[in-house]
Amino acid sequence: MDVRELKYRICMSCGSRCCKRFDYKTWYVQLTLRDIVRIAEGLREPIDEVVRKYVKIINYGTYMILTLKAVDGKCIFLTDKGCSIQNFKPIACRTYPVYIPGTYIDPECPLSRYPELLEEEVKNVEQYIKEFNETRQILENKNPKTPQQIAELARHITKRKLEESL
Ligand code: SF4
Ligand code: SF4
Repeated sequence: MDVRELKYRICMSCGSRCCKRFDYKTWYVQLTLRDIVRIAEGLREPIDEVVRKYVKIINYGTYMILTLKAVDGKCIFLTDKGCSIQNFKPIACRTYPVYIPGTYIDPECPLSRYPELLEEEVKNVEQYIKEFNETRQILENKNPKTPQQIAELARHITKRKLEESL
């Protein structure tokens, strides 16, 4: 069984705990602009639509974050069969339970009991940090006000090629 399949099974057996606790105070999934592009490509939907339908913008005055929307505390992409965007889920979901910036591991996550899987996550953390820094810098510089402006910034990432190393 490959790592992805094993993780999927563990997440299903835990009941997708971390996908069901969105309160936007203690818990949410923070998105990068690259996440938005990957979700748009994975769903084959225009970036504008993805931002409009799935992205919640939280403005804290001095800074803003992009997060996934939730319904009744559950991630908008959670289904009875688990994550519906498993192959292109946000980088924060991919690296979980290794949490920013790799210094915290959620001990309640069953995956934390599989060191071989955590090794796999740690490899992604460097990219995770780069993507978050890139998004934070762009949001600070451009200060977008509307979903359309967020979508435009994500499109700009697409033009620079998603694969481009950070
Ligand atoms: S990442 Fe951990 S807490 Fe979240 S669904 Fe998977 S096993 Fe459960
Ligand atoms: S995108 Fe998928 S893995 Fe991430 S919180 Fe939503 S359902 Fe869970």
